[in-house]
Amino acid sequence: MWIVPEKEIAGLMTPEAAFDAVQAVFAAMASGKASNFPVVREAIGHEDALYGFKGGFDRSARNLGLKAGGYWPNNQRRELINHQSTVFLFDADTGRVQAAVGGNLLTALRTAAASAVSIKYLARPDAKVLGIVGAGHQSTYQLRAALDQRPFEKVLAWNRTPERLKRLEAAAQEKGLPFKSVTLEQLCQQADVVVTITSSFSPMIAEGLIRPGTHLACMGTDTRGKQEVAPEIVAASTVFTDEVAQSTTIGEAQHAFGMGLLDAAAIVPIGDVINKEHPGRRSAEEITLFDGTGIGIQDLAVASAAVDLAVARGRAVEVEM
Ligand code: NAD
Repeated sequence: MWIVPEKEIAGLMTPEAAFDAVQAVFAAMASGKASNFPVVREAIGHEDALYGFKGGFDRSARNLGLKAGGYWPNNQRRELINHQSTVFLFDADTGRVQAAVGGNLLTALRTAAASAVSIKYLARPDAKVLGIVGAGHQSTYQLRAALDQRPFEKVLAWNRTPERLKRLEAAAQEKGLPFKSVTLEQLCQQADVVVTITSSFSPMIAEGLIRPGTHLACMGTDTRGKQEVAPEIVAASTVFTDEVAQSTTIGEAQHAFGMGLLDAAAIVPIGDVINKEHPGRRSAEEITLFDGTGIGIQDLAVASAAVDLAVARGRAVEVEM
């Protein structure tokens, strides 16, 4: 089997390679060639950690496996990031383990790639102002990936603790774009694309704040109980997602769905838009909302791409099992 250590990933995977892998996996899912297994996520009663598995099988790419890991809130004290994960790939023909791949940076890249795919297919072509809500570990990856999808002219951002916005300001400046720390109201009034990437458990964006024509990528809600926007906003939007079953149970749509404001049948898999089975945005006034819940086969896709690159460049370690 191959081992691709976490420290090698930065030198191997680019945001562009992650985008291609994620776009392909969304398309494969929508055409019935790839599916996810039910997510396991448990509070382990130690270090306040949440640990679990996301797995699946992409028949078209022959990617079989799982990502194991979770959230350790006390890791910052140890100078480690809170999200820790490893991806395991298996040979779909024999069941033999093929690879173990560091999953931390890959998670950030694949999550950013998912919202970037949604911006590519759903944001208005003339979108000029990007709004980012949240300034944690994932936020700069989200910002950089979004900026590749439209000729944005300005970045606005909001975080509960505004002093943490400096990392986003630096990322916007890398691209020569003006950056402004604003209130949530100002952000929603001006942004054409809004990306939310927080750990909030109550809606930060209230009903009525999102303007017609906005594309909203809700990326933070990946667990039962989390919530970033008012359920009325979800109900008033055309909702797209990576996987409908996750969207209604652990995604942003879980609340609108649970309150009876949104029918599961109305939620569109983003792969349908990629495969041209659904038109995506239908008017300049429509609010489109991407519920990015994070799916196992997305992890397998980027891990498999990383293994190919690592083997080709002599950066993978081979061990006998
Ligand atoms: P982080 O811990 O580094 O940062 C958390 C962010 O959330 C900070 O900006 C913090 O200010 C904000 N926040 C926390 N509680 C809040 C509240 N009550 N109100 C407003 N803001 C609040 O986390 P991260 O690694 O940047 O991840 C952000 C979120 O994205 C997490 O919820 C994580 O589980 C989720 N995530 C989703 C996917 C996916 O595929 N959808 C993948 C990875 C992470």
